[in-house]
Amino acid sequence: MTNRFLIFLAFISFTGSILAQEVSVALFYDRKPQGITLTVQKGSYLVYDNELLVDTIEIGANINIIRESEYLVYRHRSKAFATEKSLKLVGVGDAAFFINYTGSVEAARNYDGWLLVKRNDYYIDIIDFVTLDSYVAGVVEGKGGTLFSEEYYKAMAVLFRSLTVYRLSRHKKEGFDFCDGSHCQLYKAKAGSRVIIQAAKKTTNMVMVDRYMNIFEPLYHVNSGGLTSDGYSVTGKKCNYFKVVKDTFAVYGNSYSWKLLIPGIEWQEFLVKKGMKTAGSKLVKDLIVKQPTRLSAFRLSTDSVKLEAVINDLGWQSAYFDMSLDKSGVITVTGKGSGHGAGLSIESAQVMASKGYTYDVILKYFYKDIHIVNVNNLNLNLNSGGVSNSRTQSIGGKAIIKKQDLVIPKIKFINLTGETI
Ligand SMILES: [Zn+2]
Repeated sequence: MTNRFLIFLAFISFTGSILAQEVSVALFYDRKPQGITLTVQKGSYLVYDNELLVDTIEIGANINIIRESEYLVYRHRSKAFATEKSLKLVGVGDAAFFINYTGSVEAARNYDGWLLVKRNDYYIDIIDFVTLDSYVAGVVEGKGGTLFSEEYYKAMAVLFRSLTVYRLSRHKKEGFDFCDGSHCQLYKAKAGSRVIIQAAKKTTNMVMVDRYMNIFEPLYHVNSGGLTSDGYSVTGKKCNYFKVVKDTFAVYGNSYSWKLLIPGIEWQEFLVKKGMKTAGSKLVKDLIVKQPTRLSAFRLSTDSVKLEAVINDLGWQSAYFDMSLDKSGVITVTGKGSGHGAGLSIESAQVMASKGYTYDVILKYFYKDIHIVNVNNLNLNLNSGGVSNSRTQSIGGKAIIKKQDLVIPKIKFINLTGETI
């Protein structure tokens, strides 16, 4: 490859990534990695030590970057060098790689985008800069299932893109937007499913906003049990974008109904443990819960227990259930749905898409008075570390472009002994 060609490729790559909207994700965040092994799967990568091009790795090439005291040590076959600073691996064209961390017993992961590897005081940060669409597709695929209709994936792409923008800069102080764990959104690989990648592309830049044009946290759950909740039990406040929906699609989902038995005395003890002291002196028959419509709490005179607690404390599928007591003192719990019930029901959305509903109709079925708009038309204050909830935001403001910090480097070509070529 000639130097001129390399310069050209580097220029294309840098300018391309500046134009695209990107998010930065710390890979293996909870593993506190000391090093990585990386194999180029597609395309090639230019390796920069600070802003100096030091290596080019082609498809199939395998490299190691390891933290050793004050340095990052880079190894590629017989070549090796140490740097005190960071290393950047910038993809050329449609590039992708497999990556794993030193000492891992997990399978290697497959990502695209470009990588920044830097030393912190205790381990290394491995930060993947990916396009918003690629990140969203990876998150959607990570939720499971690749066999549903495209309109379902389009709805999920808009939902997760909205959630991504809502949570942007969660880890700003650490120098990236998201971790790859459940604290943010699970991002364990780039998407491989063509239908999911297409769904993200076809809805590119589209996000949901409420009636005031504010981005909001779009809660979702597995199955509503036929009735969604107003979200109060999850958010602790009234939200204008949630609505109670008589969800007629939920019945077709696998998690629509469930049943279990619990000794009456155990239910009584649970209520007392959760702070309902008066339950201790009552008969079990007085502690039976009936929900003709969703209740947020079980009340006994002035005492109350949030029903949501059965999900975390007792491992029940949802807090939407009825009870009946038999003569032997055993309670039969007949439950509906799975999850908190607020916002979109995933199983219902899958059913709706299979019946021919489009993604916008699906989203508007579950969220109240929403608009689906281009994120570039929103006035988002990203510099303050996320999205402002101010109701004075309007569309037509400054475009949100998540730029990476790279500048076009003064490229010098050196070999790994440091000699300029
Ligand atoms: Zn996180």
